[in-house]
Amino acid sequence: MSVLIYIDQADGHIKKASYEVLSYGAKIAEQLGTTAEGVLLGKVQDDLAGLGKYGVKKIHQVTNDNLAHLDGQVYAKVIAQVAEKTGAKVIVFSNNVDGKAIAPRLSAKLKAGLVTGAMALPDTSNGFSVKKTVFSGKAFANVAINSDIKIIALNPNAFQVTEGAGTAEVAAFDAAVDAPKVKVTATNKVSGEVPLSEAEVVVSGGRGMKGPENWGQLEELAYLLGAALACSRPVADAHWRPHHEHVGQTGLAIAPNLYIAIGISGAIQHLAGVNRSKVIVVINKDPEAPFFKAADYGIVGDAFEVLPKMIAAVKKLKG
Ligand code: FAD
Repeated sequence: MSVLIYIDQADGHIKKASYEVLSYGAKIAEQLGTTAEGVLLGKVQDDLAGLGKYGVKKIHQVTNDNLAHLDGQVYAKVIAQVAEKTGAKVIVFSNNVDGKAIAPRLSAKLKAGLVTGAMALPDTSNGFSVKKTVFSGKAFANVAINSDIKIIALNPNAFQVTEGAGTAEVAAFDAAVDAPKVKVTATNKVSGEVPLSEAEVVVSGGRGMKGPENWGQLEELAYLLGAALACSRPVADAHWRPHHEHVGQTGLAIAPNLYIAIGISGAIQHLAGVNRSKVIVVINKDPEAPFFKAADYGIVGDAFEVLPKMIAAVKKLKG
């Protein structure tokens, strides 16, 4: 019996979300008096043994050309083999793109109960239940899992990363890997930008920015802060910005450490995609804008006056 943690990677590097799920999975293993093991699909340039400092004892690595691109069905089948071999009773994912593609399929394959959007460690005092977000983060629910194997997909930024000492044993795992059903022929990278789903800092613009010609200031602020750019849905609908930057209920759900919203009203559908940000800063000229209720810091002012001052201040800070 063990806790198996899915280690997420992209372009040969471990994703930030992995450190969180490793810490989370290791803590569950401690709760259950068992060991935490990791599973990684593909090759990485990063030091895998070093992940031991997050509490994982062993990492099963599966390398195969068929794993070059995420395919939920193929990945789930491989992880099921690792889970069976290691006798995993709890399997942990981040509730991100990979987790959403793999965890439900794995759950069907292993007949395992699945809780997505987990917010905290499971309560094992009386059975096994997990607190999760519901209604786009507006409420919480405690969900009991009664199956033998339990799968949890943890919301990004829901758990504190903890580092200790220790190294992990890295072992190649020989798995049967199906050919993917979908062939990726080309991937277009958005050049020079931090991927929005991974970004620690996000600078986001709404209709208050008046038009695409005014995005230069947002781009400059984002560049200075090493941030990714995002926008509200009307901005993408009007083709001021590309649709992959649209956040919210019908766009991407993100959880950066810092979300700076400029000229965005804070409609519930927008908040649904950003309300898991650690710190929210809102700049809006309307003091009654609903976004201020969700903000940690608010600036009531005209974006076209505030932004140049912010940019100048960040430049000064950076020297
Ligand atoms: P507006 O509502 O027009 O707000 C602009 C804001 O800018 C105002 O608060 C105004 O005071 C401020 N402003 C104006 N000028 C300035 C200035 N010079 N300086 C500073 N502030 C200024 N929206 C999303 O974003 N994401 C979604 O995923 C999404 N999904 C939806 C799904 C459904 C089913 C529906 C019905 C709607 C959805 N929406 C979504 C739309 C959402 O309801 C809002 O209409 C939208 O978020 C508003 O975008 P906005 O804040 O940019 O624009």
